Amino acid sequence: MTRALVRFAPSIALALAALSPLVLPTYQVAVVTYVMIAAVACLGLVLMTGIAGMVSFGHAAFVGLGAYVSGYLSSQLGWPAWIGLACAVIAAALAAGLIGAITVRMSGHYLALATLCFGISFYFLVGNSEMLGRFNGLTGIAPVSVAGFELRSERQTYYLVLVMLVLVIAWCRQLLSSRTGRVLRSLRSGPVIAETFGANAHHYRLMAFVLAAVIGAVAGWLYAHVQRFLSPTPFGLTASIDYLFMTVIGGSGQLWGALLGAGLVTIIKHELQDLLKFVFGPTTRLELLVFAAIMIVVLQKARRGLWPFLEQRFATAIAPVAGIEPAIMPRRRAKPEHGLTVLSAGRLRRSFGGLLAVDDISFDVKGGEILGILGPNGAGKSTLFNLISGALSRSKGELSFLGSPLSKASARDMCRRGLSRTFQHAALVQDMTVLENVAIGATHLGRRGLFASSLRLDRVEERQLLGWSMHLLDRVGLADKAFELAGNLSLGHQRLVEIARALAADPVLLLLDEPAAGLRTNEKAVLADLLAELRAEGLAIVLVEHDMDFVFSLADRLMVMNFGRRIAVGRPEEVRADTGVQEAYLGAAA
Ligand code: ADP
Ligand code: MG
Repeated sequence: MTRALVRFAPSIALALAALSPLVLPTYQVAVVTYVMIAAVACLGLVLMTGIAGMVSFGHAAFVGLGAYVSGYLSSQLGWPAWIGLACAVIAAALAAGLIGAITVRMSGHYLALATLCFGISFYFLVGNSEMLGRFNGLTGIAPVSVAGFELRSERQTYYLVLVMLVLVIAWCRQLLSSRTGRVLRSLRSGPVIAETFGANAHHYRLMAFVLAAVIGAVAGWLYAHVQRFLSPTPFGLTASIDYLFMTVIGGSGQLWGALLGAGLVTIIKHELQDLLKFVFGPTTRLELLVFAAIMIVVLQKARRGLWPFLEQRFATAIAPVAGIEPAIMPRRRAKPEHGLTVLSAGRLRRSFGGLLAVDDISFDVKGGEILGILGPNGAGKSTLFNLISGALSRSKGELSFLGSPLSKASARDMCRRGLSRTFQHAALVQDMTVLENVAIGATHLGRRGLFASSLRLDRVEERQLLGWSMHLLDRVGLADKAFELAGNLSLGHQRLVEIARALAADPVLLLLDEPAAGLRTNEKAVLADLLAELRAEGLAIVLVEHDMDFVFSLADRLMVMNFGRRIAVGRPEEVRADTGVQEAYLGAAA
């Protein structure tokens, strides 16, 4: 019962929201209207902070920008509100595009500081602008009219705001479940996943920044035409921090969290003010302190915010998306001819400070071949993978891929050329489903972007990408886990999902960093069969693995590394017989 209640809570809340103006007193209708406007603003922050992992202390300024653009056009030039909305959105997109182009590359606190500066400057800029009414404010803003009917009363504006809120939520949901959305959702854990699968992480971060600003501007537009009076105060730093609080408390990674957070924070603040005034007298301003204390307690109990907390406690597994049939991707890359050199590395070298992690390594790998790399911990195997896959730049050496030399190739380029990899430490987006994680691998096979997915023009492509992902999950034996959250899988299974994701990019060369670690014996056998099958299809595979039986039975050739250097290379039986190898590494095993 409770589970069903939580699961359907959003729909129930919306139904209640639609009916409540009919019973609530006018004052409360107005309060809920402002809560919903704040929720719209928070949805922008959910995209930027919760989903894409960038903190903003200047969100209220974008809300203000939207409000002032439309407010000015309405009050001074008499332009209709709907045209004001278009102008507000364009202005916010331009401003965020400009600011974002400079700041989004910055990491962590630098970006937060940059948004803080923007937020503060906006407040003073508006407050000192004659044209915008200085700190006294801008009056005479017209209401929104729909088909010639002006929305003036509290109840009328309530429905306007409710409709806009529902539209923004629907659009965000649509976006987040699309190809673009999957990449955005991978950004919170850093740019690595996006870049590894052919997406420009910087572009997507910028997109999240601009989208947050645009949604903020929509909230500002609503505010301007509901309140019909503007002053800089609701768009200052305090407001930005309030939005951040609302988003974080509600659950910054969740759309519904924005709603919950906006509601709770408004109510708590309001009630606190009344209560503390009653207890300590009208002049004390203790509410901020008490408020902060409440926030800290809440976040201690529910680190990811209240919505995920509730969901985890009460909800059953997420609803499966019905009707995704396994399918082969059309237009696949031709596999290299058997025996054709796919990758050749010459005298690769990489140092970290004084440490030579990879020292003069040369090797090649051919289509239809599995090359095993052995070596004790710290030998430089993962670093070698990072050099080949473009994740790290090399200090020296040459690489060529399918016959073309690579002077400087990023991870993104390498993915597009046909290299795909897994990581030693499974790097899945934990709060996305297994199927969606695999589909990230296929990102560069799709074409549909933000606009197509907003208008639902991406359905055919989505069916292909998800069907292809399902097919690969089937190949690694995890089709039945497709709709579970990746974070709920065992580590062994997460590795298999990573392999499916790597295969989703349709590679010609596959780099696997310890794929069998954490797998049970029977799972290892399944993996060995899969790798043998892939080899038969013509894939070139480079495999780092500690399980000797696994590597020796599977690999066509082996390369052994120690202290960054290559100490042996050859067929498994040759390597096993090599005395140097036995001394350096195999020791007990040999
Ligand atoms: P392996 O995968 O064979 O266990 P790695 O390639 O991870 O070895 O590491 C090789 C050596 O390089 C180790 O000594 C490790 O500490 C060092 N190393 C790896 N990555 C970095 C880094 N980003 N910065 C500094 N040192 C590193
Ligand atoms: Mg390693």
